[in-house]
Amino acid sequence: MAKINTDYRKLSAGYLFPEIGRRIKEFQKENPDLKVHRLGIGNTTEPLPPTVIDGLYRAVENLSAVETYTGYGDEQGDEDLREALADYYGRRGVALDIDEIFISDGAKPDSSNIQSIFGTDNLVAFQDPAYPVYVDSNVIAGRSGSYDSERGNYSGFIYMVCNSENGFIPEPPDQKVDLLYLCSPNNPTGAVATQEELKKFVDYARDNKAVIIFDAAYAEFISNPDLPRSIYEVEGAKECAIEINSFSKFAGFTGVRLGWAIVPQALTCEDSEPGELQRCWLRRQTTFFNGASNLAQRGGMAVLSEEGLKECKAVIAYYMENAGIIRDGLQKLGLTVYGGANGPYLWLKAPGGLTSWQFFDKLLYEAGVVGTPGSGFGPSGEGYFRLSAFGHRENIEEAVESIRSNLKL
Ligand SMILES: *Cc1c(COP(=O)(O)O)cnc(C)c1O
Repeated sequence: MAKINTDYRKLSAGYLFPEIGRRIKEFQKENPDLKVHRLGIGNTTEPLPPTVIDGLYRAVENLSAVETYTGYGDEQGDEDLREALADYYGRRGVALDIDEIFISDGAKPDSSNIQSIFGTDNLVAFQDPAYPVYVDSNVIAGRSGSYDSERGNYSGFIYMVCNSENGFIPEPPDQKVDLLYLCSPNNPTGAVATQEELKKFVDYARDNKAVIIFDAAYAEFISNPDLPRSIYEVEGAKECAIEINSFSKFAGFTGVRLGWAIVPQALTCEDSEPGELQRCWLRRQTTFFNGASNLAQRGGMAVLSEEGLKECKAVIAYYMENAGIIRDGLQKLGLTVYGGANGPYLWLKAPGGLTSWQFFDKLLYEAGVVGTPGSGFGPSGEGYFRLSAFGHRENIEEAVESIRSNLKL
């Protein structure tokens, strides 16, 4: 008799985006003539820049001729792409060997799969609120107890509370944990950890033989030169941290699909030698995954060219101008807004003590604007609200104008 993986039954109903969709539909049925402005979803909207498009076209052409056709590539990813990424890190003072770089089809798959190289009895800590993939992948792997729907959390997990008092960057846990997930710049709060804040985690991890899984998917959105874009800018991090990153937000590859993970040779945990975790990830990827698309990898090479980087940075600057427009507009109304300075998300305190969902309805029904309830990202997100700076300028301006003239505060 086949048996199901019952850990799937523990997952809290993944109802955030379906519930948002349901409420929008209901609103539209009642108000068929009103426009809905969507500031909810973290999805890129602007076209790829010319250098990247060029690289992709050339890759397609290469597949059309027998001399340039390629099938399966290097298992860890094209060597020239890994070299280009090593150069990219080198410019931040981080020296990586190309063996430590693993090309993938994105940061979501990597951040959900990476837990499989660790035993199921590891105690795991998460930032709260967090990108839901970290928690859910560890539930499916069997590391949690049951879900408490009152509290909105799982027993058996450690939640590192992020709130306005700690600037949405937590202290390391005051107990011993084994795995820690960090995301900076953060989705959903937009907060960015400083060098000192990351160092506390690196010191904690080295002291406890713990491993940090660091999601840097928004690193390119940092404009403040003093803020770290890679955890490896902190000394000692190679011994205790895995970094995951992506071309999705960096270069608009949300649909193209390309990411990378860094698993350093120096990385160890309580019961492994240096090199063993790197070999585990190689084994995992070569067993379960057959490499990123060669077209996407050629696109990635174009992104990392001098022109490509310049053009992608211009698109990021456009999104960050959107963030500024939203932030200024809402602050002028007296709302409390965090984030949006070095990352594309704004984290809004729901006014008047409203819950996240109450504010969702208010913003939708009064201003026709859709955002994401903070409670959907974890219990500490309750009372907050995420707005995304991804979008066309005119839509962003319209949404802010509608909030300004219609939201009753
Ligand atoms: C968007 C996002 C990703 C990107 O995942 P891809 O699979 O590369 O598209 C990863 N982490 C966070 C926190 C994100 O918001």
